[in-house]
Amino acid sequence: MSQPVRTIQTDVVIVGSGPGGATMARELSKKGKKVVLCEAGKNHQWLGKNSVMLLGMMDKMGMTFSKEGTWVLRPKTAGGASVVYCGTAVRPPAWLKEKYRIDLDEEVDEVYKEIPIQTLPDNLVGPAARKMMNAAQDIGLDWNLLDKWIRPEKCEANCGKCALGCTTGAKWTAREYIEEAQQHGADLHLQTTVDRVLTENGKAVGVRAKGPQGWMDIKAETVILSAGGQGTPPILNRSGVHDAGQGFFADPLVFVMGAGQGQGTKYDVTMTAGTIMADDGIVMTDLIVPPTMFAGLMTFAGPRGWVKLPKVLNYKKTMGIMIKVRDGLDGRVNMDESFSKPLDYDTWWKLNKGAVLAEEILMKAGARKEDVMQSAVIAAHPGGTVRIGELLDKDCQTPIQNCYCMDTTIIPEPWGLPPTVTVVAMAKRLAKHLTVDAQARAAVQEPA
Ligand SMILES: Cc1cc2nc3c(=O)[nH]c(=O)nc-3n(C[C@H](O)[C@H](O)[C@H](O)COP(=O)(O)OP(=O)(O)OC[C@H]3O[C@@H](n4cnc5c(N)ncnc54)[C@H](O)[C@@H]3O)c2cc1C
Repeated sequence: MSQPVRTIQTDVVIVGSGPGGATMARELSKKGKKVVLCEAGKNHQWLGKNSVMLLGMMDKMGMTFSKEGTWVLRPKTAGGASVVYCGTAVRPPAWLKEKYRIDLDEEVDEVYKEIPIQTLPDNLVGPAARKMMNAAQDIGLDWNLLDKWIRPEKCEANCGKCALGCTTGAKWTAREYIEEAQQHGADLHLQTTVDRVLTENGKAVGVRAKGPQGWMDIKAETVILSAGGQGTPPILNRSGVHDAGQGFFADPLVFVMGAGQGQGTKYDVTMTAGTIMADDGIVMTDLIVPPTMFAGLMTFAGPRGWVKLPKVLNYKKTMGIMIKVRDGLDGRVNMDESFSKPLDYDTWWKLNKGAVLAEEILMKAGARKEDVMQSAVIAAHPGGTVRIGELLDKDCQTPIQNCYCMDTTIIPEPWGLPPTVTVVAMAKRLAKHLTVDAQARAAVQEPA
């Protein structure tokens, strides 16, 4: 590896500016820490445009596939995946407190108040989402409005651009926390990819990164890795933690879609309503992907998808349901960022159960059986690759002292839920541990 051309000194270096990294940057800079935030992506301004621009904000133009062929989206932009996420909020499951003694009640309440997170008011519930909600309730499903990271007063009905990147500022993204961190003095380095953690005597002393001006060492007392479920493990591998990346969940999903009579899902706020079948590990909501991705997903579905491809012409009337399931921790992220993610029998069973229910809902909402189609599998929630209780302690410290993880990697078990509330709350908790709690610990150890 090349020698660094320059060295920067700071208190904390944070790698990755998604919800985990941006929250750490905001909380620590507000507490007076000198923060450097490294982000491999650019600060893309292509929000709300089209699928091609959307894929332009992803690693390898979105063309990232597991060894087994599953399409796994990996956004690479300032703000991470939150720029294109659907803005659905779900509180952490009870087992995180019961089994791992991680009590996030205070931090989750803080997040809910700050944004504030709430369900959509009546005027923002689009006609397709409403039709599907009524149909789902008619067949006995507990299908309701979902909590959203969306400010209704800024949201425009019939806009339908949430997942392309919100242009009105209604949807919360991690870019808001990056800006706040910058206002408190944090230094954001874009297009800066961290290669490894620098260590001395088993302790982290900074990171080595490559930015637009070449290699540099960023020296810091504390290193926070927030490069995401697929980004953090390779950095740890290259830093000598070889077990990172062993096993991960991706929360695979399929879309079941069919054209109805009126306006389709395209115009609705993404994931307006849905159902969470916690015991089965199945989440179902109204959702459709943009047309180019729709065509891609039908193409990847093989011959049964190809025959339905012409139905993309009916896109504006098409209602879509997403079925996302909790998968296992099999697979691996490798040091070169390639990855394996087998889908087991249980995962297919869940996807299939959801697809059957979705077909029933769509037909009750006005779609014809012959128009109903199912996409190929895609995944967008990689995590669990550096789990608490295995490689991380309860405070998310890695085997390298003073080096912490804070992103979806830390989630200790198969998940199957939108993870952003948990990641942001965990980051707030770690920031407290590194500042307020650290001061209290120091005061006990060194009485005046
Ligand atoms: C299409 C889509 C829809 C989604 N919808 C929802 C939803 O409705 N609700 C929900 O809760 N979640 C949703 N998610 C998931 C959610 O967005 C992610 O789980 C969340 O953003 C994860 O945050 P993170 O901090 O772990 O990492 P990420 O958001 O993945 O951010 C990691 C960042 O690190 C950067 N990086 C990677 N490697 C390096 C490196 N070596 N050096 C420097 N920087 C690096 C990346 O460029 C990226 O910006 C969705 C995701 C997608 C893709």
